[in-house]
Amino acid sequence: MNATSVTGLDVEVIRKDFPILHQTVHGKPLAYLDNAATTQKPRVVIDAIRQYYESENANIHRGVHYLSERATADYERARSVVRAFLNARDSAEIIFVRGTTEAINLVAATYGRTHLQPGDEVLITAMEHHSNIVPWQMICEERGARLRVVPINDHGELIIEEFEKLLSARTRLAAITHVSNALGTVNPVQELVRLCHAHGVPVLIDGAQAVAHLRVDVQALGCDFYAFSGHKVYGPTGIGVLYGRKELLERMPPYQGGGDMIRSVSFERTLYADPPYRFEAGTPHIAGAIGLAAAIEYLTGLGIEQVHAWESQLVRYGVEQLAQIPGLRLIGTPRERAAVISFVLDGVHAHDVGTVLDLEGIAVRAGHHCAQPVMQRYGVPATVRASLAVYNRLEEIDRLVMAVRKAKELLG
Ligand code: PMP
Repeated sequence: MNATSVTGLDVEVIRKDFPILHQTVHGKPLAYLDNAATTQKPRVVIDAIRQYYESENANIHRGVHYLSERATADYERARSVVRAFLNARDSAEIIFVRGTTEAINLVAATYGRTHLQPGDEVLITAMEHHSNIVPWQMICEERGARLRVVPINDHGELIIEEFEKLLSARTRLAAITHVSNALGTVNPVQELVRLCHAHGVPVLIDGAQAVAHLRVDVQALGCDFYAFSGHKVYGPTGIGVLYGRKELLERMPPYQGGGDMIRSVSFERTLYADPPYRFEAGTPHIAGAIGLAAAIEYLTGLGIEQVHAWESQLVRYGVEQLAQIPGLRLIGTPRERAAVISFVLDGVHAHDVGTVLDLEGIAVRAGHHCAQPVMQRYGVPATVRASLAVYNRLEEIDRLVMAVRKAKELLG
């Protein structure tokens, strides 16, 4: 089995686009299996950022000079690229932020602060990343509202009946991850949005672990907000996106005050700009947006369905092989899984496994993955997480499996 026969993608050709992959670590070829933490960047992204700084760097939306107009045009072009990527109706629905974390904080601080009253509820799930827990806790505490948590089953899947039970006349917003970074679970977000909307409840989807692996169509999903980070989809760090439905954004107050988010300012009264500018105070990460657009164009050039098909093969193979190791317990065995395999080894701490793998040149994450409630649910302090991207080879999975066996012999 290889990627070409499965998907038409040639992984060896794709790997040539990623300069960082071609190095040795502790004398072994690097096997980068920490893509859920951050993905590596193809040359086109690195070049787009360099090109921006070398030939058009200027501040945007302000200057009348040539460079400023070029930088503005490219920044706004990046917004259109994101709009098409998510199939949003309107570019005004695309807000550039620092990443998923900032996107969620923005919604909590604006929509949350204006809509939550004492006794109201925000619904999240037991598999959320801390960034989709803590902002809601903070705003609930401030507003006297309550956080409700939908439990998961032993496979790491959301219990839909419990979700339905917890949805009530008090629910003001649901915030749900599309794909769990700790378990790999793909949630049936379209169905969840339908259930929420039947109760008049708007939905925010945390797409940090989804956009690099699955086709996302915000109109088909019907969600009200969708958040993702550039660095997890082959783009730069420090840039991310909040999609918000225009009708909601238009009624939301600003997040931060400053330049670029206003229509007019006087000491008596300031009038705010329309979305998306209302939510983009100050000089944004212009190079980041341009790099993100290059990343999205690269990914869509490969074909997201093909990428998903290849990663699914890798995941299936990895799960099959790892499950044969005695004493290895998979954390999360969902039916729908995307690009993440989490596990623990009997009697061995995840960090020690991670260290043995590192010495073999294999980069994985060992820890709680910013999802401590998931660790508590499974009664483990940490897991080893291998997470995949389109440039991963089957042979890297074989090396992972061999190295885990070695860790078991050494430490078990
Ligand atoms: N949500 C999920 C599911 C994630 O995996 C992550 C990153 N690990 C985040 C949110 C936060 O993303 P960022 O740190 O890029 O803001």
